[in-house]
Amino acid sequence: MTTTPPRTVRSAFADYLRSRWDDAVAAGLDPVARLVYRSNLLGADARITNTGGGNTSSKIAATDPLTGKPVPVLWVKGSGGDLRTATRANFASLYLDQVMSLRDMYARFLERGPKTPAEDAMVGMYPHTTFDRNPTPASIDTPLHGFIPHAHVDHLHPVAVMAIAAAADGPALTREVYGDDVIWTDWQRPGFDLGLKLERICREHPNALGVILGGHGLICWADDDRECYERTLALIRRAEDFLNARDDGAPAFGGPRVQPLPEADRRRVLVDVLPWLRGRVSRDATTAAPGGALRQIATVEMRDAVLEFVNSRDAQRLAELGTSCPDHFLRTKIKPLYLDWDPQAEDAAALKSKLEAGLARYRTDYAEYYARHKRADSPAMRRSSPSVILIPGIGLVAWGKSKSESRTTAEFYCAAIGVMHGAERVSRYTALDPQEAFDIEYWLLEDAKLKRLPPE
Ligand SMILES: [Zn+2]
Repeated sequence: MTTTPPRTVRSAFADYLRSRWDDAVAAGLDPVARLVYRSNLLGADARITNTGGGNTSSKIAATDPLTGKPVPVLWVKGSGGDLRTATRANFASLYLDQVMSLRDMYARFLERGPKTPAEDAMVGMYPHTTFDRNPTPASIDTPLHGFIPHAHVDHLHPVAVMAIAAAADGPALTREVYGDDVIWTDWQRPGFDLGLKLERICREHPNALGVILGGHGLICWADDDRECYERTLALIRRAEDFLNARDDGAPAFGGPRVQPLPEADRRRVLVDVLPWLRGRVSRDATTAAPGGALRQIATVEMRDAVLEFVNSRDAQRLAELGTSCPDHFLRTKIKPLYLDWDPQAEDAAALKSKLEAGLARYRTDYAEYYARHKRADSPAMRRSSPSVILIPGIGLVAWGKSKSESRTTAEFYCAAIGVMHGAERVSRYTALDPQEAFDIEYWLLEDAKLKRLPPE
């Protein structure tokens, strides 16, 4: 741990990375409950992983209800579950041998790799490998866990590690931070092929502790569950210590472009603008949802790290690049709406007219993005309104169809700010290629994940 004094919220001492594992608690749990316990501990802090993001697994011996014989079972967090609140019901259970045998089926396809019909066909096979009629659907990350030849696997989206994963020279930084302990692999969307790649990395680097998934996150493993948990924390700590050691005290994001408004003024502007803005954001002519489904709730985030970003010189450029982790932009959309408003020189009326113009421009951009990248079988265009609006001097306003959804969106963009902050400190922040981002945003499987959210 460095001895740099805390400068901002982000560089405060990493108490969130302190191990909270209690052997006395774990000892009283069966192996699946220990997996739930580990998952809840990992999910407890948004800097370790975002709401609903990341997954964990354990390969556990069980008695096969069909034969009465022992079989290895892969327990892996299912689609749509959240680590912090996960219970046993959020984990899929699959016959490990059958999951492994899918490699032979996959190998028989002539064309293989991400976005091929072969890869989609494998997803359709997971339900056939279900152990003990467990109704929890397996996620698209299942092969990432199944093919790694270790008993326990954690896959997370930690802010400090994603800063390395989203840096322009991520591979070199990974070497610098981790030496041979962690292996870099370029961005590839999760799926069967990425699982095979991880299996190969484990074979070629038997002493490696984990892998950085470029533009995405961290995956690591161990044969003991507590060790897996502690290793995840240790690897995040190494990334965080590296970023902190590079903190030379220079202002982040190119320094401030505008000063924050005093809190009372911020509130005054928000009271004036928010109800009006809510009406504007909720009226989205591009999608016709039945039953008033367009009504939006706002969450305003004004913490120091957010103000430092929205007030900065680099905010506009970075916001335009968009977010990097695939989990993030499902919520935050490809990019936020940044407003070029000067809180010292302009008033609330000017803010409103800039919002009006900004929303119109954003919707046009979004429709263009959809038209440019859509494929023959893409789902219809989603709402074209921004889900995050950045206002210099004030903070960020996140939108969702419920309080909880807008709060989660705000949490995701706060994480994205942390990622950009770290990446820009040690390198240059890069976002995902827009076609890759589109393919994730409109991927039928991810679409299914959103559809599983409860109806209005
Ligand atoms: Zn992930």
